[in-house]
Amino acid sequence: MIGLRVLKESITSLTKEDLTAWMKERGETAFRSNQVLDWVWKKRVSSFDAMSNLSEPLREKLVEAFDARVLTHVETQGSKDTTRKILYKLRDGRYVESVLIPANPALYGERSDRMTLCVSSQVGCAFGCKFCASGLAGFTRNLTAGEITEQILQTEELTGEKINNLVFMGMGEPMANLDNLLKGVEVITSDWGLGIGARRLTISTSGVVPGIQRLADFPKQVRLAISLHGATNETRSKIMPVNKKWDVSELFKALNYWNEHKKQRITLEYILIKDVNDNLDEAKVLASRAKEINAKVNLIPYNTVEGLEWERPSETHCRRFEKELVNRGVFTTLRFEKGHDIDAACGQLRLKKETSDGLIEEAPMKIKSS
Ligand code: SAH
Ligand code: SF4
Repeated sequence: MIGLRVLKESITSLTKEDLTAWMKERGETAFRSNQVLDWVWKKRVSSFDAMSNLSEPLREKLVEAFDARVLTHVETQGSKDTTRKILYKLRDGRYVESVLIPANPALYGERSDRMTLCVSSQVGCAFGCKFCASGLAGFTRNLTAGEITEQILQTEELTGEKINNLVFMGMGEPMANLDNLLKGVEVITSDWGLGIGARRLTISTSGVVPGIQRLADFPKQVRLAISLHGATNETRSKIMPVNKKWDVSELFKALNYWNEHKKQRITLEYILIKDVNDNLDEAKVLASRAKEINAKVNLIPYNTVEGLEWERPSETHCRRFEKELVNRGVFTTLRFEKGHDIDAACGQLRLKKETSDGLIEEAPMKIKSS
């Protein structure tokens, strides 16, 4: 019964401080901890046996206490130069997805080496936004820090790509798993770890106010994206239950607090859903909200989810909505390209797999690529 086994902590969950403390308790020096971190994050070995400059007794202690790796690669969809979805199996039989997105030459130029990974933070999501497949499938559990950091480590190994940009826009609500997320961020941004600059990390939230405040106080300059999807309480409450807990005015108070502590501009994500939030009056309110916090707006035409009634507005209407914002001086992007990061990141591969393994009785829905 795999579910009942007590799982070991993974070495990829540990910060330098954690590992040094562990070593100290066993009479070992910080030098040993640096050696282990070097094997894990620089030499990238996947077993403790390979750590040849450690004594055998120390290696045995490490094996006893930790797993060296906790994700197993299952399958990759897509090919080089396109968006690739990578499915990993977790030790309890659950699945998690990461999505690798090369730079769009139209936005970043032909020679850009920007390589983004869209990372998941939970299995499922408890927030239940009405339009989102991750939410509709329900919540299973938080990912550990190691299950977060290994998505990057293993994806680099599998694909041979250097990931230099991260968006926490995969499955789950990162702010509802903030302890593990921040531990993961520490590993990801440290020189002894993955060494990706904090400014290259974007954390997306549906509006968990205490999480935004805590992240604002966190001493690294990570970026923040808000899944707004409605500029008024009326619209937002219809599609996002989180708005009943922290409404638009509380959310914007937290965003002002963010701006007092961080230099990077906030991004407001706004999915355009026909006859739900695409009214041009809503665009006017959105524009003034965006200006209030000096945010940029990313408009995303809705990706249809099978089994749900929501639809994407026409391209002409999306452009009109965009124009309302641009005319009011708001920096706005609107993208229609195929295989967009977000539709690719909604956990479909995971749902299919958990269904076939009997972990979920029936996949609630399927996202059609647009
Ligand atoms: N829970 C966090 C992180 C997930 S980000 C958050 O909500 O911000 C995933 C993004 O994809 C969110 O902005 C979400 O609103 C968006 N999304 C979900 N379903 C979508 C769909 N069908 N079409 C387009 N975007 C969608
Ligand atoms: Fe969860 Fe974000 Fe989807 Fe809402 S949009 S259900 S918070 S993953």
